[in-house]
Amino acid sequence: MSKKLTLAFLPLAGCGGCEYATFQAFTEYPELYDMFEIVYWPMVVERTEFPESVDIAIYEGVINNKGHLKAALEMRERAKTVISLGMCSSFSGVPGLASYFKIEEILKDLYKGVEFEDEWLKPLPAPISVPEIVPVDYIISHCPPIPAHIHYTLKAIYNGEEPKIAERTVCSECPLKMKTKLPEEWRERIGKDVNPNVCFLAQGLVCLGPVTASGCGARCPRAGIPCYGCAGPTRDILMREGEDIPTKLAKQIAAYQGKDPLKEYPKVLEKLLKVYDPRRFYMFTLNSVFFKSKPFSMAMRTMMEGRSGGKKAFRLDIRKKAHR
Ligand code: SF4
Ligand code: SF4
Ligand code: SF4
Repeated sequence: MSKKLTLAFLPLAGCGGCEYATFQAFTEYPELYDMFEIVYWPMVVERTEFPESVDIAIYEGVINNKGHLKAALEMRERAKTVISLGMCSSFSGVPGLASYFKIEEILKDLYKGVEFEDEWLKPLPAPISVPEIVPVDYIISHCPPIPAHIHYTLKAIYNGEEPKIAERTVCSECPLKMKTKLPEEWRERIGKDVNPNVCFLAQGLVCLGPVTASGCGARCPRAGIPCYGCAGPTRDILMREGEDIPTKLAKQIAAYQGKDPLKEYPKVLEKLLKVYDPRRFYMFTLNSVFFKSKPFSMAMRTMMEGRSGGKKAFRLDIRKKAHR
C-alpha cells in the first residue's frame, strides 16, 4: 500500500454522532488505518495545535460561535481536501432549527439568561453550515452519517478516485412500492390502522422518500416509519434554481395521482400544509445556504421572521412545559 495520507477531524457544534460514525468506520473497516495517519482529532490524538498542513480535514457540526468560525477558516487554509460530514456541517442540520428563533429568545428562555463572558464562545445570531463559510470538496450526508459511506468516500479519495454522488431517491430503495394511485386527502399521524407493509404515501401519510437522496436502503420505511429526510434532498432539488423540497414533493404526488404536476401541485401543496408543519420539510436544512434563494424557502424565512419575535414560538413553549 502506498504512503498514508494525513487526516484531521474538526469537531464544531454537533452532537458527536458524526464523530462516533467515523470511529465506527475505522473499526468496521480497519484498512482505513493503513491509508490514513490521524494527525488532529481532539478525542483521539493528543495534539492541541492544528497541523501546518493536512491532506484531508473532516468537519463535524455547525459554526455556532466566533471560535468555530476561526477554526473552520484556519483548517481550510491548511487542508488540501475538506469533507463536510453529516447534516449539521453540510446543511445546518438539527441545530439549524434554532434559526427559527431569535438567539436572545433562546438564551433567555432555554438557558435562563446565561451570559457569555468569553467573546469566542458567544453564540452567533444563527447556526451556520460549513459550505456557507468555506468551500468544501465533498459532502457526506445523513444524520447520523453511515459508516460505510465514510469508508467509501475516504477510500475513493485515497485511491485518487471521485466518490459517486447519490443520484436516486429513498423510494428507489424502498420495498413498500407505491402500487396504487395516491389519495387526495392527507392525515397527520401514524395510527394503529396504518399498515407498515404498504407505502405511507399511498395511505395518506407524508413520507419524504420521493424527495430524499438514496443511500440508506430506506431504513425508516423498512422499520415502519415514513422517511423524514435525514439524507438531505436529492441532487435535482439542490441544483435546480426554482426547485424546493415541498414543491417537488407536491409535483411528485400530483403525478402519482395521475394529474398534471406543474398545473396541480399548488393545490396538492395546500392540502399537505394542512396536516404537515412546513418546518418539517426542512428538519435538517432550515438554515442551509443551498435553500436561501429558493422560493418556498424564502417564503418560509419571511414567515419565520414574522413569528420568531413573538412569545408564541411553539417549540420553546413545549420545552418549557416539559421542564415544569
Ligand atoms: S449530523 Fe446528526 S449525528 Fe452529525 S453532529 Fe449533527 S446531529 Fe449529530
Ligand atoms: S413514499 Fe415512502 S413508503 Fe412509499 S415507496 Fe417512497 S419511501 Fe417507501
Ligand atoms: S429513510 Fe429517510 S430519514 Fe430514514 S435514514 Fe433514510 S433518509 Fe434518513
